[in-house]
Order: sequence, then C-alpha cells, then structure tokens
Amino acid sequence: MTSVLAPQRLTLDAPLPHLIGGEEVAADRTFAAVEPSTGRTWAEVAAGTAADVDRAVAAAGAAFEQWRTSSLDTRQACLWEVAERLTASAERWPALLATENGRAIREAGLIDVPTAAEIFRFFAGVVRDLHGRSLPCGPGAHVATSPRPLGVVAALVPWNSPLISVAHKLAPALAAGNTVVVKPSELASVSTVELVRMIADVFPPGVVNVVTGLGPEVGQALVAHPDVAKVSFTGGTETGRRILGRLSERLVPALMELGGKGSMVVCPDADLDTVTEDVLTGIFAANGEVCFAASRLLVHRSLHAELLERVCARAERIRVGDALDPQTQLGPLISRAHRDGVAARVAAAVAEGAELCTGARVPDLGADLAGGSYLTPTVLSSPEGTTSASCEEFFGPVLTVEAWDDEDDVVRRANDVAYGLANGVWSTDLARALRIADRLESGMVWVNTWFATPLGQPQGGVRASGFGREGAASTLLEYTSTKVVHASLDSTRPPMWT
Ligand code: NAD
Repeated sequence: MTSVLAPQRLTLDAPLPHLIGGEEVAADRTFAAVEPSTGRTWAEVAAGTAADVDRAVAAAGAAFEQWRTSSLDTRQACLWEVAERLTASAERWPALLATENGRAIREAGLIDVPTAAEIFRFFAGVVRDLHGRSLPCGPGAHVATSPRPLGVVAALVPWNSPLISVAHKLAPALAAGNTVVVKPSELASVSTVELVRMIADVFPPGVVNVVTGLGPEVGQALVAHPDVAKVSFTGGTETGRRILGRLSERLVPALMELGGKGSMVVCPDADLDTVTEDVLTGIFAANGEVCFAASRLLVHRSLHAELLERVCARAERIRVGDALDPQTQLGPLISRAHRDGVAARVAAAVAEGAELCTGARVPDLGADLAGGSYLTPTVLSSPEGTTSASCEEFFGPVLTVEAWDDEDDVVRRANDVAYGLANGVWSTDLARALRIADRLESGMVWVNTWFATPLGQPQGGVRASGFGREGAASTLLEYTSTKVVHASLDSTRPPMWT
C-alpha cells in the first residue's frame, strides 16, 4: 500500500513541453493548468498545433519499423521497467494527481498509482503469449496466421483518471508492437507528460510521444492525420461520435470507451449493510467523476425508504475538501464549469419532479479554497424514475434513488438508457442475481460488488458506451490485425486450363 504523505501545494516553474521523438519540444503558446481545489494556475502547458501533431506522427512512424520487429523479450522488459519506475516513484504521484484533477489524495495513492503500474505489469506478462496459429490445411499447404501491429496509434484520454487511462492505452498498444502519440486532456495533461518523461529512456526515441493541447485543435488534427492507423479513445459519447465521423472517411479502426449510466439493482433479500457501503463507493469514489459510477440506485420498494435514509445519512458525513488533504473523502470537481453544469442538471431533475434529499450545495471551505469547484454529495429521490437524472450521465457526485416492484420492470428500466457500460445486482439469492445480471445490457455487470476490475477482466461497453475492451489479454487484439500466410508445398495443379 502506498503511504499518503501530507503534501505541499505544487507549482511548476517551467512550461510543460511536448515530448516528440525522444526530445522535449517547447511551444510558442501555452495554456494554464488550473488546480480544482483552489482555482489557481499551477502550471503552463504547451498548446499544440497541427504542425506538432505532424511532427509527432512522423516520429512515431519512423520508430515503427524498429519497434515492430523488437522481440517479445524486449517489449516485456520495457513494459516491466515502466511498472517498476511507477512503483519506485509512487510517493510523488498522489500530490500531482490530486493537484491536477481534484482526486482526493488518499484515493490517488491507494488506487491510481498502483493500478497504473499493474496495467504495465499485466501486459508485460501477456505479451509473451502474443502468437499466431498454424492451420491444418492438409499436407500440401503450410498455413499460419500472425498478429501484426497496426502502426501509429493515436491515444486520446480524458481528465478523470489520467494515469490509469494512459496506462490502459500505452501498455497494450506497445506490447503489440505499435508506436503511440498520446493526446492527454487539456484539463489534466501534466501527469501524462511527467509519466512519459520518466520513461523516456525505456523505449527507443519516437516509440512514445505526447502532444498536449486542446481537443478541437490537437485532438482533431491527430484523428484526421493520414498516417494514424488506429484511434484509441476514452472520453465523452458526443466526442466519440464526432471522432468516428472523421475516421469513417479513411476507414480507420477505433476503440471507443465512452460514457455510462450505471444502475445498481437492489433485490428485497439484499444485505443492506453491504449495499450501503457499495453505494457510497459506487457514486462518491473519485468524486463521482467515473464512467463506471453507480449513479442510479434501483431499490425494491420494500427497502426503498430504509436504504434512502441510510445513504443520505452517510452522504452527509462525507468530508468534502481540499484534494491534497489526506482527510478529504470527496475533492472538488474538475472545474467550475463542470461543477456548475452538474448543479444545473440536479436543478433540472428537481424541476422535473425529483426530490432533493441531500447535497447539491457549494460548501464554505474558507478563503484559501474559495476558488475551488466543490459540490456536496447529492442524493435525489425519484421513485418512478421519470426524470432526466435516471438516464443522463452527470459525471459528478449525484445519486438518484428509484423504487421497483417487479423484476421484469426493473430490468426494463435499467436497460432503458442509451448507455451500456456497467450495472450491478445485489441479492443473497445468487440464482436470482445471475438471472437479472444476464438480462442487463451492459459490457460489465457486478453481482454483490461494484468497481471490481481485476486485470484480465475485460472493461468496456455496448451501445452509447462504445466498443472494444481494455484491461484483458484480448486487448492485444485491439491493436493488431491478423495476417495469414498460406504457402503451397505442392506443385501439381488440377487441369483447369487445358
Ligand atoms: P471529452 O470527450 O471531452 O475529451 C476526451 C479527450 O478527447 C480529451 O483528450 C479531449 O481533448 C479530446 N477531444 C475533445 N474534442 C475532440 C475532438 N473534436 N477531436 C479529437 N479529440 C477531442 O471527455 P472528458 O470530459 O475529458 O471525459 C469525461 C467523459 O469520459 C465522460 O463521458 C466519461 O464517461 C468518459 N470516460 C469513459 C471511460 C470508459 O472507460 N468508458 C473512462 C473514463 C472516462
């Protein structure tokens, strides 16, 4: 377990550069990195252009041949080294992550850093099993398939768990023999640049590159670049749609990890103590800014009042505050604009008929934190689930509690959303839980737990939550195409042309 030390507030003196072809490339223009806890500018980040993207894709393209032909030994050793460096530097990341996106420092230390290291370790292991197949096509033929890397992968990531998201893209793409250009979110670029700086000498120059900047500029230029062979995107559903539109022109394949609206289905025989803990973790961990967040609680009517009361009482005790304070349980949201957007969605749900049971307040945390973007843990009650809070992704600490009577009805309601990322079922009757789990339309269903994502277990969604799977051995196939070589060992031919 990583210890969480009381940190200093970070300020970076020099602007962060792009990292291209093994070199640090300064930019003419920068943009401000704003700390969500205080609202102050704590770093300046290179504002990339289409020319920077050209240069990075060219560097990645030039490095491809060498990396494509590297041995599995080499790839394993490099990925393992990244994991080792992350683990060895574990003490310095939590303060950076908490400063960058408002993640409570205790969570950054306990979850983000070890998870990122484990992702690199996992793919360092599974890369040794990268193999093709030999097909028994008879004595006259030798037929073999092989997984081929695709080329330059564009990795676009969001701000909410930057280190984990980047690890989920870099590790499998590199393991499969591709080179990568990463475009971090403009709201959380620093950790990605620092990670790639830290591992700059692990890979040959150009194998991993970073261009920072705005989505509509750098992101769009990267997606549109003719030499990008695959786009691996994690972010909002609308952005994903826009990117897919561009990619369709060139028929470039994509992996899309998009938004979610997770339902927790609680059966009348569920263990309420366990459910209460899981609900709190499911919606308030990482400030609720998680694609897998359990933002909708569908409780059997016989338990609705009791569970609602328990969850509200516990939500009111959550310590909201400075992300850098080790006592903080819920930090600020990523920005004022996002916080105000979440609050506006809560207000709209209330106007549509939801009852605000607790939260949705901007807390007074004193003058030092007055510029932060805080929102207290919020619980809405909407027994019949008729408001926008039951179907829209808020991406914040907002839970909507609904009631149900009938199993068919709860399954229909849980499925009646555009998204299909993660759902859950709580019941002490395993047969019942598995029956409901089978009927929920999402890439992941948890039974009597939430957020369980051990490596090896595929992560990803269906419908508006996207396609492709991360975190599993099969993820290597997302970054390869299958090539077959069919060799004839027989020179005789049927007399077709005589
Ligand atoms: P976003 O879509 O705004 O941005 C994601 C990335 O795309 C950023 O790097 C951004 O700069 C870039 N981008 C923005 N516009 C672009 C464009 N026109 N062309 C190319 N790139 C562009 O998402 P966000 O606000 O950073 O993240 C929150 C969203 O991410 C939520 O919807 C959340 O559910 C989703 N998310 C999904 C998963 C998952 O695994 N399914 C994980 C984390 C976050």
